[in-house]
Amino acid sequence: MRYSEMHLPTGREIPSDAEIVSNQLMIRAGMIRKLTSGIYSYLPLGYRVIRKVEQIIREEMNKAGAQELHLPIVQPAELWQESGRWTYYGKELLRFRDRNERDYCLGPTHEEVITDLVRHDIKTYRQLPLNLYQIQTKFRDEMRPRFGVMRCREFGMKDAYSFDADEAGAEKSYEKMFTAYNNIFRRCGLKYRPVEADSGSIGGSFSHEFMVMAESGEDAIVFCEKCNYAANLEKAEIARPEKMAISEKEWLPMESIETPNMRTIEEVSSFLNVSPKQIVKTLIFNADGKPCAILIRGDQEVNEIKVKNYLSAAEVELADDEMIMKATGAPRGFAGVVGIKSKVIADYSIMNLVNMVTGANKEDYHLKNVNIGRDFQVDSFADLRVSELGDDCPRCTGAIKFVRGIEVGHIFKLGTKYSKAMKAVYLDKDGKEKTMIMGCYGIGIGRTVAACIEQNFDDNGIIWPMSLAPYSIIITPVNINEKNVMKASEKIYSELVACGEEVILDDRDERAGVKFKDADLIGIPLRIVVGPKNLAQGHVELKIRKTGESRLYATGDVVAEVRNIIVSALKEAS
Ligand code: ATP
Ligand code: MG
Repeated sequence: MRYSEMHLPTGREIPSDAEIVSNQLMIRAGMIRKLTSGIYSYLPLGYRVIRKVEQIIREEMNKAGAQELHLPIVQPAELWQESGRWTYYGKELLRFRDRNERDYCLGPTHEEVITDLVRHDIKTYRQLPLNLYQIQTKFRDEMRPRFGVMRCREFGMKDAYSFDADEAGAEKSYEKMFTAYNNIFRRCGLKYRPVEADSGSIGGSFSHEFMVMAESGEDAIVFCEKCNYAANLEKAEIARPEKMAISEKEWLPMESIETPNMRTIEEVSSFLNVSPKQIVKTLIFNADGKPCAILIRGDQEVNEIKVKNYLSAAEVELADDEMIMKATGAPRGFAGVVGIKSKVIADYSIMNLVNMVTGANKEDYHLKNVNIGRDFQVDSFADLRVSELGDDCPRCTGAIKFVRGIEVGHIFKLGTKYSKAMKAVYLDKDGKEKTMIMGCYGIGIGRTVAACIEQNFDDNGIIWPMSLAPYSIIITPVNINEKNVMKASEKIYSELVACGEEVILDDRDERAGVKFKDADLIGIPLRIVVGPKNLAQGHVELKIRKTGESRLYATGDVVAEVRNIIVSALKEAS
């Protein structure tokens, strides 16, 4: 493509509302433009990169035996009512009515639509297994769209759905996708790792997220240095501690102590001169309208996702003052477990505590020397806290570490969550009706592109890996008004085009410095500089964007050299 004919509006200014590097660079490199909050247009350069990612995904999905189809974006409410998500999904689901007053939504994901399709078309075990995928637009009315296309409202996703006759088959389908995802992200040139994850509103029993390592990532990842355990912080498990033998002789008599206006752990800890590790927080949660007390050591944090999963609740939040008052008889800050009127679930962190300090369920009072079994009962102990540095690995004896990551892909074992609710059944060998076992598998296309930039940039701009580069080569004639320079540039250009290479000829009447800046900004991996001095010696310069390395080649050799570099770069990532 000739630069002079391209729509490639680059910019030098850092956009003031772009918080992270990828967003800044995608705007400056003329890849995207914001239409409105969380909604973006891809310009030609950006769309080429999108197509590169899509192509890699298609190749790997097809190789794994999945088949591409295309489902509608507009989905009828009835299907979502059938699965139970019409009420469960919350405000991210954009709902609207048509002229006949029928309810619809814009698809944030397609489990309902695909399950509906498959239940009508699949009748017997002979038609299974099946894996169907699409690359299509999703809409999620995110509470806080940010970071450009990384967390937006309208975005492209590859979503795949597998249907199997039995658990063993479903496991195999999941493994196949796990392998395909590894192939995809490796070919995209990303440094990533699969981590165990929570299943969120998609549901199901087990899932892995594919995380691209980046400081700007919204997710915290826990991993073990010794074994290969890695998990999203939301999900990171904490091993059940050994129950220590506690002698009741250690139990001191319980006392009520006046603690005027002392509500926080810090206040109580310094007022009573006890360590936060000796204090037990009693947090009242509202789980689907019912109170539940969660006990946890004063120095630790409750992981609400673990609470939600443990209680199998649709909605979990900290209770309001009214619910706290009803359950404890005291205002917020003085809730305690002794005499509480609710279910009591305790985090493992308090399992071996003796003589604890808790709220007294009475304004301005706390209790000292509270003991499990004597002063209160626990309905059960569970892993409910946020993992922290210093914790042991839940799988081995190693220590855990933290890194930040961007979730680019997510694979789920769904089991029969949708197939049961929506009656996706088949007849087995004996003619018996059985429920299909499902899996679903997503990749955010735009987020993958942005994540790639987060890992591949410098002060001058983007540094595309060859596999995602919108063009592999840019030819920069230093001065288009010099006949020889233009002639040599045109020749190299037409040879590369004839070989099917993706190449830009920067034929703009601009200073060389301006052209170099743009070439660096848009991140083209290889630059051929054609200048009068080198040309007089029969040479052109080849510069590698990633390493900054440059070398002279005979004008007749540069095309072959460039093609070699491209082939070996793509091979290396494959
Ligand atoms: P997140 O936790 O980041 O909101 P999610 O768990 O809701 O993601 P999934 O439902 O698993 O995401 O969707 C599959 C993939 O779609 C994600 O791995 C991500 O790459 C992409 N994705 C999800 N939400 C967005 C968004 N708001 N903007 C861009 N891409 C998104
Ligand atoms: Mg989400």
